[in-house]
Amino acid sequence: MDSDSSPWDDALTRSADLRRFRLAALKWYDRHGRKLPWRFTADPYRIWLSEIMLQQTTVAAVVPYFERFLAAFPTVRELAESDIDRVLRLWEGLGYYSRARNLHKAANQICREHNGEFPANAEQLNALPGVGRYTAGAIASFAFNLPAPIVEANTERLYARLLGLSVDVKSSAGQKALWSFAGRIVPDTRSGDFNQAMMDLGANVCTPQNPRCSECPLSRCCKAFGSGRQGEIPVRKARTPVTEIDEVAIVLIDRHQVLMRRRTSSERWAGMWDFPRFELTPEDRDLLDKRLLQTPRAGSGKSKNSTRTKSLFERAEITLPRSILEQTGSLVNVEAGQILAATQFRYAVTRYRVTLRAVVCSVDQRTAHGRVDSGSLDTDWFSAQHLDHLPLSQTGRRVADWVAGLTMQPKYQRSQPENSNEAT
Ligand code: SF4
Repeated sequence: MDSDSSPWDDALTRSADLRRFRLAALKWYDRHGRKLPWRFTADPYRIWLSEIMLQQTTVAAVVPYFERFLAAFPTVRELAESDIDRVLRLWEGLGYYSRARNLHKAANQICREHNGEFPANAEQLNALPGVGRYTAGAIASFAFNLPAPIVEANTERLYARLLGLSVDVKSSAGQKALWSFAGRIVPDTRSGDFNQAMMDLGANVCTPQNPRCSECPLSRCCKAFGSGRQGEIPVRKARTPVTEIDEVAIVLIDRHQVLMRRRTSSERWAGMWDFPRFELTPEDRDLLDKRLLQTPRAGSGKSKNSTRTKSLFERAEITLPRSILEQTGSLVNVEAGQILAATQFRYAVTRYRVTLRAVVCSVDQRTAHGRVDSGSLDTDWFSAQHLDHLPLSQTGRRVADWVAGLTMQPKYQRSQPENSNEAT
């Protein structure tokens, strides 16, 4: 046993068993492999694009994005030369936006350091921004047919069951055993097909719940099946409990324009545009909710006992609580005035469940009209309709769509300050 071996490495040690295992997997793949748009090519650009999109995202969600992206950027050079905002806008809705930023950076690196050609080498691929060990192995094997191992969500489960792995698959011992196994089973020929067969078996046969062992071509050498432990493997540590948080997005409207800020590199959704948005303390949340609930709604005839309303407020001269005003000012250097409308959305990010209040406010003072781009402050004013062209997070888009709908309402026009020059 070499120094890289693990206690689970005794699976498929006989070369005849390994040969049969590979043949069974490839035979199954030829009949049952998934026919995906990025499977009909050995073009590393398309394979790379699909693999980055598939990280943390389902195949069904990726297909339309993949096709749109390729239509916009048919080559790695066109992607590299594109404006990052266009890349982010096309990525919008897929989530995990660092993938799009890294895609753009990696495209530039490929053009700069490799003359626009993908390196046919897993180590060099691994050196590209956003390309981890799995993605490097996938590109190397799918595009260049190199015997590079892969371990991702589907193969992780499949290999853990084949090995009968009884440690947490995410632990360093678990990862070591899985990568070691993946490296040993990948053949020198049809390496890409073999790796895709493993992924498809994991996705369609060795499913998380109720794996279809009776249809599995690998059941003869599966330790979990042999010992009836399919339901116990893969072993994972307990999930982190969900945390509820409250946020507010302040929609500052002035002269039919909305103030937006670009999120900084240290924030979630870095590089995307957003409304001034921040987390609320329980005290600020209660203060804000109290004001919103007290505020009469235009046209409703009575106050609704909920901030979920999408109607506009009457001119009630209600403003944001002081601490929320200050936080808004520190983000965008603009002072919010009267509250004009509010609603709320719910969304989930990783282990957080977020209640986002969106509050439309007029503007009392403005330090600059036009774009402010200095240090961490990068803000600009846009018409509600122009927001359609900006890259926003999914929740940012929901707020933007709501704002666009509001600004079309005649009541919105009436709710602007009557004596203000800025309300034209
Ligand atoms: Fe998965 Fe069952 Fe096949 Fe084992 S036999 S690899 S548990 S589907």
